Amino acid sequence: MAVARPIELEDQQASIPATMQAAVYRGINDVRLETVPVPEIGRGEILVRVHTCGICGTDLKKIATGSHSAPRIFGHETSGMVAAAGEGVTKFQPGERVMVFHHIPCKECFYCHHKTFAQCETYKKVGVTAGFEPSGGGFAEYVRVMDWIVEKGTVRIPDGVSYEQACFVEPVNTCLKGIENLALRPGETVLVIGQGPIGIILGTLAKRTGATVVTTDLYPQRLTISRDLGLTTGIDASRADAGEVVREMTEGRGADAAILAVGGNSLIRQAMDAVRPGGRVLLFAQTARGEATIDPASICVDEKTLLGSYSASVELQEQSVKFVMNLEMDLVRLISHRYPLAGSVEALDLAAHPQPDSMKIVIQPGSKWEGRSL
Ligand SMILES: [Zn+2]
Ligand SMILES: [Zn+2]
Repeated sequence: MAVARPIELEDQQASIPATMQAAVYRGINDVRLETVPVPEIGRGEILVRVHTCGICGTDLKKIATGSHSAPRIFGHETSGMVAAAGEGVTKFQPGERVMVFHHIPCKECFYCHHKTFAQCETYKKVGVTAGFEPSGGGFAEYVRVMDWIVEKGTVRIPDGVSYEQACFVEPVNTCLKGIENLALRPGETVLVIGQGPIGIILGTLAKRTGATVVTTDLYPQRLTISRDLGLTTGIDASRADAGEVVREMTEGRGADAAILAVGGNSLIRQAMDAVRPGGRVLLFAQTARGEATIDPASICVDEKTLLGSYSASVELQEQSVKFVMNLEMDLVRLISHRYPLAGSVEALDLAAHPQPDSMKIVIQPGSKWEGRSL
């Protein structure tokens, strides 16, 4: 009987190069393709060879505003293959396909007990890096996944699920959190303004609660994709007023809720006007600080509520993993552009300047992998 010999770290690392390519953030609007060392891993850590990493609005914001020190390697919607496992790692083995969360709270401290996870000291530490100050690292060939993320924030990708599908777990989690905050009840009508990839995910999750979903966007190309994915009531905002259409559908009242899934503060007033008295508006894309015009009486007299939601929730991790891995939604359909790592700068530039036909943009260091890359 042949007994498999445990794979020694040195054997594993024999096939891992000493250097790799990475898209390095060097300052405001300055990202360069550079050769950097492949990160070394320690006890309890794994090295993941990145296949696909989605570009997220928050990456673009960091690059455009210089909110974080340079140099850094961003990218946190990462899926790939375990290339090496450090001493003491029992959960994962080289060759396994995984997606990784970049930060996870400890679940034990004061703030975690009060469910204010974003204030947890462990949560604030980013646990995935391709070098420099840990920042996600997915825009590189390899990432080092630190021990607490290996334990609590690394998820195996089942057979039959692609790396592309799997890289959506984090964005789906952020959308689920928004939908929970909105507390939709079955039979309610919700207007989703903006049908980029996030707007479509929000619409799909809203529909699952039993709500009637109406979507709107200025670009018919986006409405076509959202219709293909089951959001059949789409309003072309260049031709019709979504607020009016929704009022017609609700005996003149207006939507029970509206979700703003597109940046820009001028739409806040429009969203507030589209909901009925007592209705609520969720801001999901208003991440830039500034000032906005609202009608205060719409809140005081009409009793409308303005809500927000940002980032992922560890409490929704299991649910978001299930949604993605059980293929409840064909998220791959949301990807419009795939760039090899060498095209990272161009990919980030397109993502920062969305076009009518650009949806989710992913960087794929694994695009040329041979064999089982799915
Ligand atoms: Zn993200
Ligand atoms: Zn904590």
